[in-house]
Amino acid sequence: MSSKSVKQSIMDADRAFKRFFKRQSKFPNFKKKGKSDVKMYFVRTDVKVIIPCERHRIKIPTLGWVRIKEKGYLPTNPDTHTIKSDTVSCKAGRYYVSILVQEQEKPQSELNDFGIGIDLGVKDFAVLSNGVVCQNINKINKVKKLEKQLKREQRCLSRKYEDDKKRKKKGEATRQNIQKQIAKIQKLHHRIDNARTDYVNKCVNEIVKTKLSYITMEDLNISGMMKNRHLSKAVASQKFYEFRRKMEAKCRETGTQLRIVDRWYPSSKLCHKCGCIKSDLKLSDREYICECGYRADRDYNASLNLRDAKTYKVA
Ligand SMILES: [Zn+2]
Repeated sequence: MSSKSVKQSIMDADRAFKRFFKRQSKFPNFKKKGKSDVKMYFVRTDVKVIIPCERHRIKIPTLGWVRIKEKGYLPTNPDTHTIKSDTVSCKAGRYYVSILVQEQEKPQSELNDFGIGIDLGVKDFAVLSNGVVCQNINKINKVKKLEKQLKREQRCLSRKYEDDKKRKKKGEATRQNIQKQIAKIQKLHHRIDNARTDYVNKCVNEIVKTKLSYITMEDLNISGMMKNRHLSKAVASQKFYEFRRKMEAKCRETGTQLRIVDRWYPSSKLCHKCGCIKSDLKLSDREYICECGYRADRDYNASLNLRDAKTYKVA
C-alpha cells in the first residue's frame, strides 16, 4: 500500500475533545444517565490493530464476531481497505459500530472546466447556479409524515403524565407505560434524524457527481444563526454544518476545489447582470428586480453571484 488517506471517523467523543483542544468549544459535557439516549462504549483506540471484517460480520476486540444488520456495507477487501479502530454505541435501543477505515487513494477522474455556486437558505435547502433546487428538508414527505407521528406520540406521552398526576394510587404499570412511550419517542426522533442525514448525503452526492472543477459556497455563520431564537430550529434541522463538512470531504476526494466566500459578500444584493448593489433588498423580496431590467429569483441570483465570486478562501 502506498499513500493512504484516513477517511470517515465519526466518533462523537473524539470530535468533542478535538474541538475542545482547538479551543472551538467548551469542555465536553458528560451526558447524565437517562437524560440522553446515547450510550458509548469504547472498544479500542489502538490504531495499529487491524480489525477483521466480513460481508456479514465484524470482529470487535473483546467482544468477538458480531453479526451486522447491513450486509455488504463495510469494506471487506483487506488489500484496499483496513479497519483500524471502532466504537460501539447504543442509540434508542439499537447498537451501532463506527469504524475508522484506511483506504488507498483512488485515481482522480477528469473534471469539467466549469463550477457552480450554491446558495443555502431556510426556504429552500440549496439553490444551485445550474438551476437545480434542493427543497427544504422539512418539506420532504417522509420527514413530514414522521414529524406528524412524533407530535401525536408526544401528545400521548403528556396525556400519560397528566393521568398519572390525577391518579391516587400509583402503580408500577403506569410508570412502565410511560417509559415505553418515552422509548417510542426517542426512536422517532432518531428516525427523523436519519432521514435528514440521508437527504443531506444525497444532495452532496448529486452535486459532486457532476465532476465540477469548483464549488462556491457562502461561509454561513451557523453558531450566530443558532443564537437567533427565530432561526435556530430551522437552521438546526437543516443540517447546514453537516452539509458543509460532507461537501469538504467529498471535494477533497474528487479533487474539486471548494471555495468559501466571506459571509459579508453581498451575494443576494448584487445584480448578476450589471453588478450594482441593491442595499434595500428585504428578506421578504423573493424576486430580485434591478433597474437595468434584470429579473430573477432571489436565491438563483445569489447562486450566480457566488459562482462568479472573485475573492474566496479555499477550504
Ligand atoms: Zn442590474
